Amino acid sequence: MKVGIDLGGTKTEALLIDEKGNKIYSKRIPTQKNYQGTLNGIVELISEIEQKFKNINSIGIGMPGAISLETSLIKSANSIWMNGKPFKSDLEKLLQKKVKIENDANCFTLSEAVDGAGKSYSIVFGVIIGTGTGAGIVIDKKIIRGNNYAAGEFGHTSLPRSNDKEINLAKKCYCGLSGCIETFLSGPGFTGIFNKINQTNITSEDIVELYKKKDTRAIKALEDYVDRLARSLSAVINILDPDIIILGGGMSNIEFIYENINKVISKYVFSDYVKTRIVKNIHGDSSGVRGAAWL
Ligand SMILES: [Zn+2]
Repeated sequence: MKVGIDLGGTKTEALLIDEKGNKIYSKRIPTQKNYQGTLNGIVELISEIEQKFKNINSIGIGMPGAISLETSLIKSANSIWMNGKPFKSDLEKLLQKKVKIENDANCFTLSEAVDGAGKSYSIVFGVIIGTGTGAGIVIDKKIIRGNNYAAGEFGHTSLPRSNDKEINLAKKCYCGLSGCIETFLSGPGFTGIFNKINQTNITSEDIVELYKKKDTRAIKALEDYVDRLARSLSAVINILDPDIIILGGGMSNIEFIYENINKVISKYVFSDYVKTRIVKNIHGDSSGVRGAAWL
């Protein structure tokens, strides 16, 4: 049996699955927002599972950020207390066994590629549009990390076919650059642009509710969002040309996306037809923890 841990900024979830992917056991605890507390939480979860179930073959952990190839320390995590820490070696010392650690967008994509929306496809591009915007590439059920551990980080490239007026709608990105795709497609990006244009202070859920009431501001905001998503993903198709694109994260629950994007994207892809479907994930919230277990 395999254990997966999804280490998030607010909760840490453990999942035990058998070799067919059936859920045997799961547990969630709040994440302590400091390094030692985070480590202790994971050790307690795994110890509890090992006491209840004996035959554990592997432990995989999905988390934001990555292990730096230069220093072996955690980098780019938005759970900032993890950055610069030798997380893997500390955890292995405490557990007295090997663990696999992977970026959460890669875990999401692996999960959907193994037995989710991408299970019948070879090249799977998985996108998380949530608090941030990240992606993973899985080919024949294997994660493609790239030479710099940056494969799939399309959220920090600039929005294609944009102009200064459009770029100025979004906030400057925390990465230090302006016009990043993440600042348009993440939940905070989408909401921030709506509130800036309309002088409001509402949430993405409120905007979707307004859309259902045929509010013209909300219709325009969702049309613009889908157009930006289509432009962003057309660049992915023009380079990687995946068999399927699977969306996850909070924004992926907006049905308007699937009703419109497959038509809009054909305007931007350099091909006379676009076979690539853009679909919603199957495993929902548990995709991250399932992907961690499959590591
Ligand atoms: Zn950025």
